[in-house]
Amino acid sequence: MGKALALDIGGTKIAAALVAEDGQLSDRQQIITPRGDATQLSAALEKLITPFRDSVEFIAVASTGIINNGRLTALNPANLGGLADFPLQDCIQSMAHLPIILINDGQAAAWAEYQALRDECNNALFVTVSTGVGGGIIWNKKLLIGQNGLAGHIGHTAFDPQGPMCGCGRRGCVESVASGSAIGAVMHEGKKTISAARVFELAHSGDIQAQQVVNQSATAIASMLADIHIALDLDVAILGGSVGLAEGYLEKVIATQQTLPNVYRVPLKLAHHRQDSGLIGVALWARETL
Ligand SMILES: [Zn+2]
Repeated sequence: MGKALALDIGGTKIAAALVAEDGQLSDRQQIITPRGDATQLSAALEKLITPFRDSVEFIAVASTGIINNGRLTALNPANLGGLADFPLQDCIQSMAHLPIILINDGQAAAWAEYQALRDECNNALFVTVSTGVGGGIIWNKKLLIGQNGLAGHIGHTAFDPQGPMCGCGRRGCVESVASGSAIGAVMHEGKKTISAARVFELAHSGDIQAQQVVNQSATAIASMLADIHIALDLDVAILGGSVGLAEGYLEKVIATQQTLPNVYRVPLKLAHHRQDSGLIGVALWARETL
């Protein structure tokens, strides 16, 4: 199969790139995810797809949310500007008459990261800490998708039963404490809440409250890693996403792991493909499954 157009639909950004057979990316583009309705998301996708549809052989789509039978259903609709349900496959098919593969973005990224480590591991967990908290599980060298596309939604494991209400409707999920949205939501400048990136800036400049918010996020991620490691006996966990890749965050998660008994400490490393794990992973996955 020749060139693919890969899309990665996240809560904050939609990335697109051409992916060659050897996995090299070119023509990478990125737009802000529209905070609105299905029409706006369709228009954004059309803008990215139209220039490339005649020069690729298939389209590979990684998206936040649950991908099941070609539909996107948001576990936490707030991550997609309130959009809870979207006919993703039909929408893209109406723009380009090409073979299409869709999977969850955490699952796609897990597949890319596993390929980079495949000589070293059989069982791996990818964690993205970004607008939300997501993930993907490689078990016995296979990507777990689940019968309903749900596998790997580890951001909705419980961290604090007394914690904030999560957008999924359950109180105290890891995502409600650790995600970029959660990090930004608890801090204010004037009357406005601020972005996670701004909280990190403040934390680096010595702001105690910002440091506490970032530490709490890292603590929730370390706790989740411990729970999943004790359930699955992982070889490695891989951290990605804009918050996961932020300077100093990995070290904070590892520092919290060090406070736990040894059996809970899964080796943790940063994503080899950085922000491009989803794009590369979904293109690789499509080549194996189309
Ligand atoms: Zn939740």
